[in-house]
Amino acid sequence: MFEGLTGRLGDIFDKLRRRGALTEEDVSAALREVRVAMLEADVALPVVKQFVTQVKERAVGQEVLKSVTPGQQVIKIVHDNLVEMLGEGAEINLNAAAPVPILMVGLQGSGKTTSTAKIALRLKTKDRKKVLMASLDVRRPAAQEQLKVLGEQTGVATLPIVPGQDPVAIAKRAIETGRLEGYDVVMLDTAGRLAIDEELMAEVAAVRDATKPVETLLVADAMTGQDAVTVATNFNDKVGITGIVLTRIDGDARGGAALSMRQITGKPIKLLGVGEKIDALEPFHPDRIAGRILGMGDVVSLVEKAVETIDKDEAEKLARKMEKGQGFDLDDMAMQLKQLRKMGGMSGLMGMLPGIGKIKDQLKDANVDDGMIKRQEAIISSMTKAERKNPDLIKASRRKRIAAGSGTSVQEVNKLLKQFETMRGMMKQVQKLGKKGMLRGGLG
Ligand code: GDP
Repeated sequence: MFEGLTGRLGDIFDKLRRRGALTEEDVSAALREVRVAMLEADVALPVVKQFVTQVKERAVGQEVLKSVTPGQQVIKIVHDNLVEMLGEGAEINLNAAAPVPILMVGLQGSGKTTSTAKIALRLKTKDRKKVLMASLDVRRPAAQEQLKVLGEQTGVATLPIVPGQDPVAIAKRAIETGRLEGYDVVMLDTAGRLAIDEELMAEVAAVRDATKPVETLLVADAMTGQDAVTVATNFNDKVGITGIVLTRIDGDARGGAALSMRQITGKPIKLLGVGEKIDALEPFHPDRIAGRILGMGDVVSLVEKAVETIDKDEAEKLARKMEKGQGFDLDDMAMQLKQLRKMGGMSGLMGMLPGIGKIKDQLKDANVDDGMIKRQEAIISSMTKAERKNPDLIKASRRKRIAAGSGTSVQEVNKLLKQFETMRGMMKQVQKLGKKGMLRGGLG
């Protein structure tokens, strides 16, 4: 996410930080570079202009240049302005009588149907809402079927398909079903087109008038950059939108759509699609995004993700084992690898860690990637139970067998065992500290 911009800004600010004192000219020079970096990231020109002017005013106007750490201060100003530019984070509005209608609009292929199911799942699990989904797409033959499959996957109800109905009739039936069967929310997934046309807009407007949605969410593909912003502007002019769901953020190295959207359309980004998986949806937090863009990391999201994914029972089991002074074994390591993978793997985590943008390429060279986690899990599962409990058993011939069994090489097996030794050493340290009482209560 936004790697390109993060790398460029990182270089610019490194230079700034290295200079002790800063003159106005230093700041101007840096901001000229920021301007180019943002334009290359496909941020809209008026947005870039306003941004650079504001940062400059604030940097020169305050006592920044005379301060002890002018470089840091300038970065903070950039950060705060990025947050402003991204707008406030906004929740989905459910303030209406049930069933609350939510209309999903956007171009075909933007991720509209996937996002509909992602949001429904989120409302169901996080907000404990009873959600009904309905596809109003009568043009693409498989569209209604696709939503039904997603409903089965997520355990969210979908409106039974009745062939031959037009979008407005389906929408009315969905609301009526929602009312009769006590649903909290009804999500209406409208048809998309490859490009905006009048017929599409008229159809969406007719559905809107028939259902009076509380939210009309425009789904746009972040990877299309400024086109996504144009699409949002068009939909807003023609049918009126209340918020934006920006998808494929996971593949968006530039960030232009995310950074321009709010200022150009005046509508808030509400959610980010960050992957193909059905739970790959994040609320939009401008301060965290700004932190990620500036390579300051997003430790808050990281911790939240950990709380959501980490298997508490497993973690407690390990903590108890450590407390009792029992050894860390390969089963424990396998469990930790699994947790790591569940949290989005290395690539997912790295974007959230401070300063990691710069060393990402090095990590890639060192083969610290998601494929490696899977291979390591395969290696451990090719060991016998006795070997996992007592890794010292694993001598040369066993290493060969394990490599063959897991489709890896002896070198990789050796590497894993070495890594295991390091982890075991660290666990021993923790245990020692624990005995001294320094970590009492802190391990659970
Ligand atoms: P629609 O035509 O707008 O309804 O688009 P779909 O929901 O069918 O999505 C089109 C493709 O984009 C599917 O293969 C989805 O898995 C994929 N997709 C949707 N959202 C995301 C996302 O946030 N990240 C990634 N990487 N893929 C996504």
